[in-house]
Amino acid sequence: MTAFWTEADYDDHELVQLVRDRKSGLTAIIALHSTHLGPGAGGTRFWHYAEPADAMRDALRLSRGMSYKNAMAGLPMGGGKAVILAGADKTKTPEMLAAFADAVEALGGKYVTAEDVGISEADMAAVAQRTQYVSGLPVEGEDAAGGDPGPFTALGIFLGIKAAVKHKLGKDSVEGVHVAIQGTGSVGGGVARLLARDGAKLTVSDIHMDRAEALATEIGADTAAPDAIMSVACDVFSPNALGAILDDAGIARLDCMVVAGGANNQLQRPEHGPMLAKRGILYAPDYVINAGGIISVTLEYLCRNDKAPCDINEVRKRIALIPGRLEQIWQESDSTGESPDQVADRMAQALIGR
Ligand code: NAD
Repeated sequence: MTAFWTEADYDDHELVQLVRDRKSGLTAIIALHSTHLGPGAGGTRFWHYAEPADAMRDALRLSRGMSYKNAMAGLPMGGGKAVILAGADKTKTPEMLAAFADAVEALGGKYVTAEDVGISEADMAAVAQRTQYVSGLPVEGEDAAGGDPGPFTALGIFLGIKAAVKHKLGKDSVEGVHVAIQGTGSVGGGVARLLARDGAKLTVSDIHMDRAEALATEIGADTAAPDAIMSVACDVFSPNALGAILDDAGIARLDCMVVAGGANNQLQRPEHGPMLAKRGILYAPDYVINAGGIISVTLEYLCRNDKAPCDINEVRKRIALIPGRLEQIWQESDSTGESPDQVADRMAQALIGR
């Protein structure tokens, strides 16, 4: 038997808890990577894993990712993540969610949960009935922080693309800049609309091509087939669908100057960051550029805990800091020769005292 703390993804995580509730059948893992900057914050994933070890790997890797993301977003939060191990039929019962909520509550605020893959807004609302340590709950009113994180994530990516265009192409505006967008969901669609408003030339794609075509008609963009979007000749490739698309084959296909988009974990392996740099492609580290949503839901959580209203302008102000953070990374990358992802990881590690 191999101990999980000898796994490559174990990175001195402060706490890894197995939660079992015989009555409801719940099996979950809560991983706290770092609470150096504050409570470990990160969503709960409900997923059927082929092997239990895959669930452990996911919890370890994703909670470390949250430490880096929250630190680089300037939030007073550490990194945590929970995974609920679903059965093959993905049955999810109120009793399981209640047992999970009780486990979160028992940690006394060391871990703050949120929605992630397989968990709905309604599921999180049920969890919030039994624990106060939940972020990203629905909010009322247009001027409040929180609610759907997608538009806030899109805003940060739009600002990050503008910064990348300035850094790499020396242009102050995205007018006429060609951006190829993979994925036209909540984030990709939002990015496309913001870029279109500023006169960018756009090519959009989605595995649901009807979605991409409707967006293209709305904003006056071209479309590309899902298997062609990564090789479109463009200035910026913006991945807003899947992770791990920047692998050997993916990088070889790119015909762009910049990669800047919201998808999580875009680099398949650590060597793919330097590989992009070697091709002369400027990379915006994913967890830095896509932090708009986490900024919004975290401010909503902090304000709710303080019982104070949270102004949406504070969220916008913090999202507006994303381009400056990227520029700092790129400048350091230019001067040290490290790739931007390596610089970002090092900065994040320093912020969490590692
Ligand atoms: P979404 O489900 O609203 O949209 C994703 C879109 O990508 C869908 O339209 C889907 O059909 C499309 N898609 C899936 N596979 C594809 C492929 N191979 N080629 C082209 N299109 C494909 O999700 P979202 O909220 O927009 O999130 C997009 C990405 O951004 C995800 O990787 C997510 O983890 C990441 N992210 C989202 C947020 C947020 O606030 N929503 C925050 C940070 C990171």
